[in-house]
Amino acid sequence: MHYLSTRGHEAAPLFSDILLGGLAPDGGLYLPQVYPRVSGEELDAWRRLSYAELAAEVLKKFATDIPARDIESLAAKTYTADVYRNGRPGDDVSRITPLRVLEQSGAQTLLLQSLSNGPTLAFKDMAMQLLGNLFEYTLARQRAELNILGATSGDTGSAAEYAMRGKAGIRVFMLSPHRKMSAFQTAQMFSLQDPNVFNIAVDGVFDDCQDMVKGVSSDLAFKARQKIGTVNSINWARVVAQVVYYFRGYLDATRSSDQQVSFTVPSGNFGNICAGHIARMMGLPISKLVVATNENDVLHEFFQTGVYRVRKSAETLHTSSPSMDISKASNFERFVHDLLGGDAARVRALFRKVDTDGGFDLSGKPGSDGDEFAKVGRFGFASGRSSHADRLATIRDVDARHGLVVDTHTADGIKVAREQIEDGIPMIVLETALPAKFNETIREALGRDAERPAGFENIEALPQRFDVMQADVETIKRYVAERTGL
Ligand SMILES: *Cc1c(COP(=O)(O)O)cnc(C)c1O
Repeated sequence: MHYLSTRGHEAAPLFSDILLGGLAPDGGLYLPQVYPRVSGEELDAWRRLSYAELAAEVLKKFATDIPARDIESLAAKTYTADVYRNGRPGDDVSRITPLRVLEQSGAQTLLLQSLSNGPTLAFKDMAMQLLGNLFEYTLARQRAELNILGATSGDTGSAAEYAMRGKAGIRVFMLSPHRKMSAFQTAQMFSLQDPNVFNIAVDGVFDDCQDMVKGVSSDLAFKARQKIGTVNSINWARVVAQVVYYFRGYLDATRSSDQQVSFTVPSGNFGNICAGHIARMMGLPISKLVVATNENDVLHEFFQTGVYRVRKSAETLHTSSPSMDISKASNFERFVHDLLGGDAARVRALFRKVDTDGGFDLSGKPGSDGDEFAKVGRFGFASGRSSHADRLATIRDVDARHGLVVDTHTADGIKVAREQIEDGIPMIVLETALPAKFNETIREALGRDAERPAGFENIEALPQRFDVMQADVETIKRYVAERTGL
């Protein structure tokens, strides 16, 4: 299996070649040259597999340069009931992503698939935990080391730290805005005592942290000498790891492989739902893929109008589903590539236009950049958006009717799923975080605290390990170099 860049760069790397990297050299994103197909027979055979076995089967189709036995042991080590133990009381945690029927009326079934039972209580653990093991394995084979430098306002940084803690050959340097994360998120990250994890609280806002990372990355000599890498959501292996739970959800919601299901996905950077698109391209019988956004509705706007218009920082709102507060959707280029039939020259031109003009228009109207919006339905995509008031109403309603507390991102998904559900086709909402992570809004909606999984009761009281730093590129460079000794 070789990979291409959405913008046409001619190298055709293998899975291991792109594992540790981010963008392709031409600024594009990696996709497989052809999507592997999964037949109905194969799908039926997969019904009997555990989550780890299923993950190995999916991975084997994409990582053809890693021996099958190694893939199996990496998956078995990653997807254990112990790692994904933070289910709700009564959840069968050995399922890894337990599926529950939320509501049934007439021919309509709404289900919830929990992707947030991992160490940081959010779905990013699903991919990041595998990435940690894949990185450690690959670095050992190459006798190499890697220093991950990242900026976070919450979910990504903590998922990365919990995935990389204690891993040989890897250090994590994570910048976060000092005193700007919730007490729970801060405690999750800063209570880690592993010597290969460095928490750096920057005097500034998230953008200052991101600028420091960009500043370091633009010094190519430093970056090479210090073996600096990233783990952002465009990483191809993260997308592949996420493909697995679409198969699991489908198999758990159906009895035979001629049935269809739909998914609604709380979306920000389009990473999660991009994996659903890939599962569908592989032949998984998905009817609709519904993009649920919050007030930051750049994706909803595209799926309604064909116009992709990235937002300026000042237009990007801070909402109560903060992990979906995006100005542009970094994985969207992968879908656009497929929508344009793989025409890399046009993808390149459109995303240059994003840089120069802030967007593009595929509506087919006079003066637009193309008419491919008409084909979006063939890929199953639909969309909806929700507001803070919708989230509060949904959290209250689901609690009152089903006795289940859902987080704000999942509430966005449920609200939109109810608009898009069809008779006879089960609708699966992906639960992307547990409510304890976003307790402020749970209190606002319900007047009480969200339950915390066992072990998280007193997390804020644990000793914290972090360094405070000015927002300065030279300071972080010195900090990294002193600790790597490179
Ligand atoms: C990251 C995140 C999302 C958005 O996922 P994308 O892959 O960026 O679309 C949604 N919900 C939660 C809780 C997240 O952490």
